[in-house]
Amino acid sequence: GRDYSNVTTTTDSNDSDRLLGGLLATGFDEASCLSRYQSSLYRKPSPYKPSPYLLSKLRSYETLHKRCGPGTESYKKALTQLDQDHIDDNNSECKYVVWVSFSGLGNRILSLASVFLYALLADRVLLVDRGKDMADLFCEPFPDMSWLLPLDFPMRDQFDGLNQESSRCYGHMLKNNVVDNEKSLSHLYLHLVHDYGDHDKMFFCQGDQTFIGKVPWLVVKTDNYFVPSLWLIPGFDEELDKLFPEKGTVFHHLGRYLFHPTNQVWGLVTRYYEAYLSHADEKIGIQVRVFDVGAGPFQHVMDQISACTRKEKLLPEVDTLVERSNRVKAPKHKAVLVTSLNSGYSENLKSMYWEYPTLTGEIIGVHQPSQEGYQQTEKKMHNGKALAEMYLLSMTDSLVTSAWSTFGYVAQGLGGLKPWILYKPENRTAPEPACGRAMSMEPCFHAPPFYDCKAKRGIDTGKLVPHVRHCEDMSWGLKLV
Ligand code: GDP
Repeated sequence: GRDYSNVTTTTDSNDSDRLLGGLLATGFDEASCLSRYQSSLYRKPSPYKPSPYLLSKLRSYETLHKRCGPGTESYKKALTQLDQDHIDDNNSECKYVVWVSFSGLGNRILSLASVFLYALLADRVLLVDRGKDMADLFCEPFPDMSWLLPLDFPMRDQFDGLNQESSRCYGHMLKNNVVDNEKSLSHLYLHLVHDYGDHDKMFFCQGDQTFIGKVPWLVVKTDNYFVPSLWLIPGFDEELDKLFPEKGTVFHHLGRYLFHPTNQVWGLVTRYYEAYLSHADEKIGIQVRVFDVGAGPFQHVMDQISACTRKEKLLPEVDTLVERSNRVKAPKHKAVLVTSLNSGYSENLKSMYWEYPTLTGEIIGVHQPSQEGYQQTEKKMHNGKALAEMYLLSMTDSLVTSAWSTFGYVAQGLGGLKPWILYKPENRTAPEPACGRAMSMEPCFHAPPFYDCKAKRGIDTGKLVPHVRHCEDMSWGLKLV
């Protein structure tokens, strides 16, 4: 294995690795966020290089963010517009998009990356509502200026109540014919939550973007990775092609750029890694997320995991005729990292590999960092552990994920891994085949619009361009490949 003894002295590591191929800006205080420059020591270098155009876009975004961020003159000036209903001049120096903290952690990471990409495309400054725990989980991603929305932001106490019926909800305004193209509004609420309606979905039409583009303050609530549909907006597609010539790398790059665990979470990651994973010859991640009701573990899920790992040769079979097995001189050591709310699946695997030898002679260690029982989104350390586990999964060599789970999407994207997806069981039966390889490492957009903005009628948006397709794990979802 590698020598991790000098992880705190980063002087001798290659700068391009350390900065993730130029993705990260230099000059941050290292000690306040160790994960930022240390993550490259724990992962293989990514085979995907960010484009020079993306790098220059990020650097100019950072300049914009610093000029317009909280506390600046521009920010104060923009705040005064919030008091007005309509604004007179719409060439404000700085325009903003506020991401409202909403939903489970995987969903939040994906939606925040989507809103950041939208900010890049629309020349807006991203501000992050810290919700209960965003500031405890993530470091600041931009140099010299916070991305957190100040606590005294005037509309903050209204965030929880924002919904499809809010008077400044864009979809609601469209529905009630109160959008006036002659006047510029000071702010708009964009409802892009999975339960949104046809009018809310007009966000993804170019004509509507022209109107929305003039509004200095946008407040967005979403739990989705809506990037694939940005690619279908004519005003954005060329820029996106330039930013991401390799289309299936959007979350991989943006995720690595934005999401750096705080020192507390990074401690969870590195201690676990060094105790249980670093010495193995090969690391396999298995992310088990069961959406069935009931406690589990479920036999059909266990069967599915076994069928998948056996068929795809990710894990060896065991020899139940113990006395026949031969010992191997220098056996290969595989570490299996299982993440699940339930401990049953890893316990089962662990007993199997203790009770019987493998046919290949390989030694299999099975490890599960936490077993929280059920989703407890509001508990602080709960999400710290969830983030640490997504990170640990992203450090494996091969990854098995569960259909429909944004938790798995985050891990695969950060890791640059095309996972084997355990398809969704129906009627408590393991599907056949149990799993399949993903086309790309991109997350799936679970609630895309199916609308042709020009023709004003329904259309299959998964069939318009070769790089936006239906997902492997959700037939109506869209993903980049
Ligand atoms: P999704 O529901 O699978 O799309 O993922 P989310 O991350 O959005 O929401 C699930 C939440 O449940 C996570 O944020 C965690 O709080 C919790 N959770 C689900 N699976 C795990 C797991 O394997 N480990 C831990 N620690 N938490 C989990």
